[in-house]
Formats: sequence, structure tokens, C-alpha cells
Amino acid sequence: MGECEVCGKAVSNLKRAEIDGVILEVCDNCVKLGKEMSEPGRVVMKRKTIETLEEGKELADNFAEKVRKARDSRNIKQDEAAKRIGVSLSILRRIENGFRPDEKTAMKIQRFYNISLYKQD
Ligand SMILES: [Zn+2]
Repeated sequence: MGECEVCGKAVSNLKRAEIDGVILEVCDNCVKLGKEMSEPGRVVMKRKTIETLEEGKELADNFAEKVRKARDSRNIKQDEAAKRIGVSLSILRRIENGFRPDEKTAMKIQRFYNISLYKQD
């Protein structure tokens, strides 16, 4: 909840707009007086993070189980899976036992199994 900096109306969704060279938080009506800014604002940033899996994404609590189950469902052995994913067998074995992979490795695993290892929110 906030107040429009132009008309003073209390609104829940303030928009950021550039009006006469000044950046103001305004209501739906007043946004039309200027140019709406799209880049700032937490909502936009958050959506971007989900799409690109940038840093800050948290691995799901059961990521190790997901990796194990995905491999089981394909009925392939750890060494074969590791080879096809492009990681070393020891790394894959550790990940399946709960070792947190770096993002690059996690992405490879996700792509290979077509699963998500990250928390969805
Ligand atoms: Zn207003």
C-alpha cells in the first residue's frame, strides 16, 4: 500500500513513471501523465531470475532424491548417466548423496533429465 505521488490516492500497486524528468511512484491514472518505467521493481527482477536461473536460486531440499529418481526411472547406471550428463562419476555419486552441485553442473543435470532441481516459488 502506498500513496500516488501525483494525486495522493492510496493504491496497492504503485507504478514507477517518469513525469517531466522526475521518477515518481504513481497510481494507474497518473502513470498516463508520463512514461512508465519497466526496469525497477522487485516483481520484474524476480520473474527474470526464474526464467534464467541466475544466482540466488535455491536448490530444492530433495534435489539429491530427484537426481536419483530421475536416473532410476531411466534405468541407467551412475557411470553411464555421468558420461551422458558430462560430469565425473564421483561428482554425480556425491550429488546423489546430497552434495550440492554448482549451478553449471545442476543445469547440465536438469537438461539431461528434464527436471528442476531448484525450489519453485
Ligand atoms: Zn495518481
